[in-house]
Amino acid sequence: MLGMDSIGFSDHAPLPFPTSWAMKEEGIGDYLKEVVDAKIKFDKSLKVYCGFEADFIKGGVTPDRWRVLPGLDYMIGSIHFLLMPDGQLLEVTGDRQNFELIRNQNNLEDKELMLLYFQANADMLEDANVDVLGHLDKMKINIPNFNEILASDKDVQKVLDSVLHLCDREDVVIEVNTRGQYKSNSKESYPGPFILNRILEEELNICISSDAHGINESRMLFDETKEMLKATGHKYIFTFDGYDWVPEKL
Ligand SMILES: [Zn+2]
Repeated sequence: MLGMDSIGFSDHAPLPFPTSWAMKEEGIGDYLKEVVDAKIKFDKSLKVYCGFEADFIKGGVTPDRWRVLPGLDYMIGSIHFLLMPDGQLLEVTGDRQNFELIRNQNNLEDKELMLLYFQANADMLEDANVDVLGHLDKMKINIPNFNEILASDKDVQKVLDSVLHLCDREDVVIEVNTRGQYKSNSKESYPGPFILNRILEEELNICISSDAHGINESRMLFDETKEMLKATGHKYIFTFDGYDWVPEKL
């Protein structure tokens, strides 16, 4: 069915402030029930898993809050917000105008934003219990020079390396997310070639996710991404089998 043996849902966990995309706390019960109903309905023809994508913001917001929910199979931790020096939250993957406004009010250059962003990913891996690290470089949609800075700046690379070493230490699978390529004109996956190459060098575990928001997007660019990974030397992707993340040969 759908060309897949299994499917994992990962609605965005509630946030303590309004957004147009995170689920509301009162919706959690229905969400968990719908996924359990689908598990029963499809039984052996399609394995159905229930996850969450959740944010980490130092000092209060953590994926750990949702880990205790019954029936949860896995947790994706992603950074969508950075706490700015003036106390505002910058939505790193949100509206560009708002992004520019808040970063200008805080006088932050691209490099400083990237340092804060990768550090936030490191802080999450250090403090919270997640199974998958979501769209590690998605901030590049709001920073046109992101890849150039990443490829040349040793300070940024150092913080990125601390993120990768934490994925290794904590046994966290790194998501290769295709949504930007079919939805936001991104020329490459999240993360892109530079980070995928570092992942290869460090022999870290990756999985592919379409970040689908509808059934038609569920396997979007999977085959192309597998080919791209194979061509760049990756040998395995990891999939969830209901208990653990297991390697699948590319
Ligand atoms: Zn996300």
